Amino acid sequence: MSDEKIKQLPKLWLGDHYNEGIGRDDIFDKLREECGVFGAFNVPDACSLGYYGLHALQHRGEESAGMATVESASGKFSYHRNMGLVKEVFDQTALEGLPGDRVIGHVRYSTAGESKLANAQPLIFKYRDGDLGVATNGNIVNAPSIRKELEMQGSIFQTTSDTEVIAHLIARSSKDFVSAAKDALQRIIGGFAFLIMTNDKLLVASDPHGLRPLVMGRLGDGYVFASETCALETVGAEYERDVQPGELLVLDKDGLRVDRFEKLERRATCAMEYIYFARPDSDINGINLHSARKRMGRQLALESFIDADIVTGVPDSSISAAIGYAEQTGIPYELGLIKNKYTGRTFIQPSQELREKGVKMKLSAVRKVVEGKRVVMIDDSIVRGTTSLRIVNMLREAGATEVHVCITSPPFKNPCYYGIDTPDRKELIASQKTVEEIRQAINADSLYFLSNEGFIEAVGGNDGEYNRGMCLACFDNDYPTPVDPTSEKSCSC
Ligand code: SF4
Repeated sequence: MSDEKIKQLPKLWLGDHYNEGIGRDDIFDKLREECGVFGAFNVPDACSLGYYGLHALQHRGEESAGMATVESASGKFSYHRNMGLVKEVFDQTALEGLPGDRVIGHVRYSTAGESKLANAQPLIFKYRDGDLGVATNGNIVNAPSIRKELEMQGSIFQTTSDTEVIAHLIARSSKDFVSAAKDALQRIIGGFAFLIMTNDKLLVASDPHGLRPLVMGRLGDGYVFASETCALETVGAEYERDVQPGELLVLDKDGLRVDRFEKLERRATCAMEYIYFARPDSDINGINLHSARKRMGRQLALESFIDADIVTGVPDSSISAAIGYAEQTGIPYELGLIKNKYTGRTFIQPSQELREKGVKMKLSAVRKVVEGKRVVMIDDSIVRGTTSLRIVNMLREAGATEVHVCITSPPFKNPCYYGIDTPDRKELIASQKTVEEIRQAINADSLYFLSNEGFIEAVGGNDGEYNRGMCLACFDNDYPTPVDPTSEKSCSC
């Protein structure tokens, strides 16, 4: 069902979730990663590599997928993108139309109204020196003002994506391509990981705070870039290092050149990547996420021990933390909740009753496991509170005598401006209610959040960098860049 159709549904049908800006997955009230990027340079059959790499990043975006390739010998530039999952967008014919030894690829979520092919990435442009493809993960905070300025000067935008501003800034410059790209990157503010490809170059850039993850690997004589290390593993590349904040890597016939477009002021990798978004088999800044989440569970147990019979985690992202909580307390970990991975995107049904069934299609309580038990339920975050309420009630209906909710993040009080699709502040339950009020709203016997300090400690201890090099703005309101709270939180990817 398209987002346009979702918006046309009666308010009753979506209940509390009805909102112009809410898309299909939001009825489950989870934060959404916006995008994943993958790139490779000097590798045989680059599009096959891109296919598998994007597949590994599918959890970061299910709305659209795309790849652009270049044959370095001829400079031939090809691309294909469409709405849908990677396996839906790329069949054999599509892959055969993408020859080359260089690739950039993208998977995308979108906010409502933006779910259209024109915004699917890589965005492709013709400029004075040839073809230009841009794939990004993140959000450009000052894109609206740059866009307005460029439009006043005569630029005509093809898409509603913020990413397009970087292409216009590059295309309008009279400098050589790399200098123009550097100037453009210096002008934009936000959290972003860029892959920019022309007929003869690949540029790779991470924002000056490293808000969005981006890693580099080696494959034979070639290079591979991805939002997460799990994609490197999938394609058989060896992890080399994280792309550093403010870095600009230039790859062409002369190989790799490391440059900078901005000096590093404060590293601020998104904390929610550690808590929820990235796959547990990925590493960020050298920290494995399964291990970090287990430590979050352990820390939560130290801060909030509960006398209970079983511990269960809300799948998939909270299972590692639930194991950690169980290890620390000695309370057995049980599979009290099961996620059905095969519901695809068909779960929305046109009636309240069927919608509730749709929720159960996606997640179920295991009656024989939770019946008669005092349950500690571990989850990663509470956004509006509606999902937590549903899951607590689901456990109670399955016979749990007590349900204690433990959250492996501090209260989520502030919206994100860096590419994570969050509701407005007034819809974030933690910004409107006390912990006790939230407990009542989600019908839990008790409710605990991990402390800021406990979270930082769990991720990897205080290594001297402010907040251990993380952005915690959604918890502490300390944004690493200027943000305009009145601006629309649109996504560039
Ligand atoms: S505000 Fe929150 S979600 Fe956004 S980058 Fe910072 S930690 Fe991540």
